[in-house]
Amino acid sequence: MIRCSLGTAKVLGLKQIKVDDLPTTAYLMVGERCHFNCAFCAQARESGARSDMLSRVTWPQFPRADFLKGLEGGQAQDTLKRICFQVVQDEEALAATKVWVKEVKEHTDAPICVSAGPRTLEEIQELLELGVDHVSIALDAATPEVYMQVKDGSWDRRYSLLTEAAARFPGSIATHLIVGLGESEEEMAHLIQDLYDQGITVALFAFTPVRGTRLEHCDQPALAHYRRVQAAHFLIRQGQARADQFGFKDGKLLDFGLPLDRLQQLLRDGEAFRTSGCTGCNRPYYNETPGETMYNYPRSLTKAEAAQAWEVLRT
Ligand code: SF4
Repeated sequence: MIRCSLGTAKVLGLKQIKVDDLPTTAYLMVGERCHFNCAFCAQARESGARSDMLSRVTWPQFPRADFLKGLEGGQAQDTLKRICFQVVQDEEALAATKVWVKEVKEHTDAPICVSAGPRTLEEIQELLELGVDHVSIALDAATPEVYMQVKDGSWDRRYSLLTEAAARFPGSIATHLIVGLGESEEEMAHLIQDLYDQGITVALFAFTPVRGTRLEHCDQPALAHYRRVQAAHFLIRQGQARADQFGFKDGKLLDFGLPLDRLQQLLRDGEAFRTSGCTGCNRPYYNETPGETMYNYPRSLTKAEAAQAWEVLRT
């Protein structure tokens, strides 16, 4: 059996549901109940959330044969640009992921990434040797202080593994950062710059309260805060600006070191506000409630949405 996100199940023909936007990556979950205790995570050791939840999304379970058959189906072939294994942190889950990677490779040519599992360079190497194209080591928190509040273990150790991995396996390492855990925009922007300087792909997410987790009563970040971090991330990733030329006041991004008309030109099409990370990753409704404002757009923005994002960014 394997768990996949509800949207993925629809693409694979395993669930008949109505959705506005399909995932362009198949999101698969291996393992259950992590041995870590992240305050925001439904899979955390002491979380009271349902075991089939990760962020806002439910992850039903399917028999192996049905899943593999779905992967070869027409809709999956047309829609999926990537396969992403979300590995809940335990040794068995990582071992099981390796078996799944081999199996999935026999049924699709889509690139494969593995998120959150490995703890050593050797484990990362093993995954890459199996043909995984990106390994994501989730840092989640922008600073050691935030990490201490919301995660187990050490930010420094996680950051060291990330940077050593990026040096050893250039172009193959990614990370996830969660905006809205208590860090400032300035701290987040400088970390994003540092990670891109080391060739690490960054996927940005907005903190999302999930029932049953320690942070269930906390708010999502203000949309304007998230839009500013998205814009900073986009400009850094595109090489259009560097964090050291941004202007900050009390930790808030005031300007991006670019003339206003140039900034508007760069952000006009709304690309900055789409889901970031590995190519092909769009994670619909991971941070969003259907019908409400999107933190990460899983598709191109309409003109009106892009104009609105620009306005929000400047508030
Ligand atoms: S960026 Fe997307 S595809 Fe890449 S590891 Fe993260 S969730 Fe998976």
